[in-house]
Amino acid sequence: MKKKILVANRGEIAIRLTRAIQELGCEAVAVYETPDEMSRHIRIADEAILLGDGPRCDYLNIEKIIRAAKKSGACAIHPGYGFLAENPFFAKACENNGIIFIGPTADIILNLGNKVIARNIMAEAGIPMVPGTQNLKQGRIGVAEALSFAAKYGYPTMLKATSGGGGRGIRRIESDAEMKEMIPVARAEALAAFNDDSVFLEKVVINPKHVEVQILADSHGNTLHLGTRDCSIQRRNQKLIEIAPSMIKNRPLLDEICNTAVKAAKAANYLNAGTVEFLIDKDQNYYFMEINTRVQVEHTVTEMITGIDIVRNQINIAFGKPLSFTQKDVQIRGHAIEVRINAEDPKNDFMPEGGKKVSVYRSTGGFGVRLDGFVYQGYVIPEVYDSLLVKLTVHGFTWEETVERLKRCLHNFAIRGPKTTIPFYVNIANEKDFVTGNFDTSYIETHPHIFHYDEDASEVGKLARFISQIHYSRENPFSK
Ligand code: ADP
Ligand code: ADP
Ligand code: MG
Repeated sequence: MKKKILVANRGEIAIRLTRAIQELGCEAVAVYETPDEMSRHIRIADEAILLGDGPRCDYLNIEKIIRAAKKSGACAIHPGYGFLAENPFFAKACENNGIIFIGPTADIILNLGNKVIARNIMAEAGIPMVPGTQNLKQGRIGVAEALSFAAKYGYPTMLKATSGGGGRGIRRIESDAEMKEMIPVARAEALAAFNDDSVFLEKVVINPKHVEVQILADSHGNTLHLGTRDCSIQRRNQKLIEIAPSMIKNRPLLDEICNTAVKAAKAANYLNAGTVEFLIDKDQNYYFMEINTRVQVEHTVTEMITGIDIVRNQINIAFGKPLSFTQKDVQIRGHAIEVRINAEDPKNDFMPEGGKKVSVYRSTGGFGVRLDGFVYQGYVIPEVYDSLLVKLTVHGFTWEETVERLKRCLHNFAIRGPKTTIPFYVNIANEKDFVTGNFDTSYIETHPHIFHYDEDASEVGKLARFISQIHYSRENPFSK
């Protein structure tokens, strides 16, 4: 009988995981909530279980998911990213029910999910980091401590939710007055969002590059890195475009960062796939930021430049297998760029475009192109989930070639119905600083002209509009 693995997620990542599960000769069990019943992740799975009406609460319901796993006879669960992926209670519940959790152990998730505990582990191991409040009472700083930290290191300073994630719960504070005002606000928000009101302070790195290192660690003592990614192109601390490897010309520095990441992972007794995130300042000093204990949205760029299937390895590691390659076997080839194509209107503060029907969907293709999506023509985007439709990842031999490939793909990608981030990415792909690799986390704010475009003006826009008119007149024959 084939092994069954339950996919505790939705959207593009559920499909990504299902593909790896099926390639390994196992069967994939999908779960879903009612608003997702038209989702493609259900269709491609070998079996699908309705959790409930949701929205979101059933994808987050540990008990229901464990029950679904037992009902289907799944021996393992892959949580993907978001939802329960970084929930130590979920990992523990799997363990208690004799189900393999495809990820690190509950203890590792618990420690690293708390940014202050993580910083303390890394400080102990001698990993460089920006000064911060290290108080082991889990970052429960008060106003007095905050003001004395700011007096010592100066403003601006970063106020962070200790249990935060996904770019949320991070605030730049510019003055004592703002600090006094914002600490209670930040606490209340953190409590609502992360069920933990602890906050802590970090010195701000001015206009840093965000560089992260992909780690794979098996249960036989092997911990390897798969090179770097640059995720500096962000909006409100959330990534939009990711590239691999980092464009920093200083090779010894990047090698050092990779080795430091392995050291950091070992210090945390890390197991399975994870990401060590760093900030790099103008003088090329680098600082540990956090470890994400899951597969990342942007894992695709690393897969393209290394040829290593991260999800396949996650599953094998969880089943107790040793990694089948060594650090020497990991060779970086060329460059990769991923853009997150979201149903959002960048011109309207990235307002989500959920609720709309995708009237035309014609994706791109060809050499060096990878698509991770779940949307099809006729699909109505549920309003209740996040707005990621498809990740476009391109791979090229040189950086120039990779950017040119990205441009070609964006120009040939027709989505009609919801507004998307495609025209915005077209502008970035044509922008001088992006093309020359000259960007840091301030890129979007400092390049306001990337918001200037006319989505209906391009040839592909016109074609998509034409196709959607034909569809509309077929479906509504009596309308004018
Ligand atoms: P990446 O994997 O590239 O770092 P993000 O940090 O944007 O991606 O997070 C991936 C997904 O997980 C996003 O959909 C985000 O909303 C969600 N997410 C990440 N961390 C949390 C968290 N602590 N709580 C809720 N959602 C989260
Ligand atoms: P999350 O868990 O939400 O991903 P991170 O701690 O990884 O939070 O930070 C997300 C982003 O916020 C970083 O990529 C960076 O752009 C910004 N950031 C975080 N800490 C600092 C800092 N100390 N100085 C400057 N920017 C920071
Ligand atoms: Mg982060």
